[in-house]
Amino acid sequence: MEILENAQKMLEKYPLCNHCLGRQVALLGYELDNQKRGEALKVLLAMKGHQLIPVKKREGISLLQTLAGNGSYNVAAELLKKMRKKVGTKRDCYLCEEQFRSVHELTAKSIEKLTYYEHKTFLVGIKLPVAVEEREDEFKAEFNVKHGENMRNEFSREIGKEISKVTEKEVDYKTPDIVVIINPFIKQVILQVNPLHIAGRYKKLIRGIPQSKWLCRECGGKGCIKCNWSGKTYSESVEEIIATPTLEKTQGEDALFHAAGREDVDARMLGHGRPYVLEIKKPRKRFIDLQDLMQIINKQAQGKVKVLNLRFTFKDEIRKLKKGEAAEKTYKVLIEFNSNVSDEEIEILEKTFSNAVIHQRTPLRVLHRRADRIREKYIYETKIKRLTLNRVELRVRCQGGLYIKELITGDEGRTDPNVTTISGVKANPLELDVIGIDMKGFEK
Ligand SMILES: [Zn+2]
Ligand SMILES: [Zn+2]
Repeated sequence: MEILENAQKMLEKYPLCNHCLGRQVALLGYELDNQKRGEALKVLLAMKGHQLIPVKKREGISLLQTLAGNGSYNVAAELLKKMRKKVGTKRDCYLCEEQFRSVHELTAKSIEKLTYYEHKTFLVGIKLPVAVEEREDEFKAEFNVKHGENMRNEFSREIGKEISKVTEKEVDYKTPDIVVIINPFIKQVILQVNPLHIAGRYKKLIRGIPQSKWLCRECGGKGCIKCNWSGKTYSESVEEIIATPTLEKTQGEDALFHAAGREDVDARMLGHGRPYVLEIKKPRKRFIDLQDLMQIINKQAQGKVKVLNLRFTFKDEIRKLKKGEAAEKTYKVLIEFNSNVSDEEIEILEKTFSNAVIHQRTPLRVLHRRADRIREKYIYETKIKRLTLNRVELRVRCQGGLYIKELITGDEGRTDPNVTTISGVKANPLELDVIGIDMKGFEK
């Protein structure tokens, strides 16, 4: 039997524990663990040795001695003792240096650390010293191992199984709540607590609140006279309004706010709100009541910000959100013209800005943070309602990323066409609201 012969050759040359011997035939036999595979090989080899003694005594004794020494196999040692033969000393496993013995200890250590963080799923990740991995690779090459697995897999599976048995949490390869990173050779256990993602939509009911935390430009957040020692240009932001109560609930370390685009500080965000995902780093609590959180946020931010449709989600949604910046948006703008506009002019504006392509060079006001280039954006439809002789309410449904204020003012000719040049009267946007964001894949 080739497997058995190969196992014998391995043991003659190197000391191997049951795990490491069994791992070389890991792909053979189901419902077995490597420890059992290794033990089975040693049992068979001991029987073979025993059988040889009456016919080829020296060969038989030598095999038993190999098993007792390099195999640390007690059955072989007992046989030798009975025959009053030299047993020899057990030697530490060449591949794992007997680290599989610390599986229980590493499991206990992992469980202790895991108790501080709520989780349903986990994954064990194994780090091995480079020398250990290289040694195993060379070993496999030397014995032409075809049905083996690597040491990392075995450690990960064995410890994962034990943790699961004690904690009743499930191993999840794709999106585990926590990854337990273990280096068995230095008995190190580190937790990588994966972020928690909560998706929702927010409405901004008043003007004057930025979407994200806005550090004081003067002091960069340290606090100075200009910012009244707050370190911030605006005392609050949508981000902080949503993140602060969420961090309290989840006992997370930090939160990142991701949204599908942003509105200006002085624009409201109405309609069904803007989709966002809040990413909470290292949460101690994961299974929070989102209805409850929603109520807390909405109560604290009453009249300013309102969140809706909170739900748990995964990291991929952040990517989708970023793509969503280009989603279809609907805006409402209150415009004041420097002189009266006629109904005819209003009609012309509606026509010009429906099914139209707008060429827009990066607005002067954002040039400091965005590259200067020309964007082409599509307007699906524009509706205008007259309010007074020189005031109108304009509703525009367009491709995301179109700068609306500049569409009105013309931004010194950088946006073409624009309301000011088409009407022939200088147009000023007084108030801007986002009233609709249509994103495929995001419920309203
Ligand atoms: Zn070993
Ligand atoms: Zn400051």
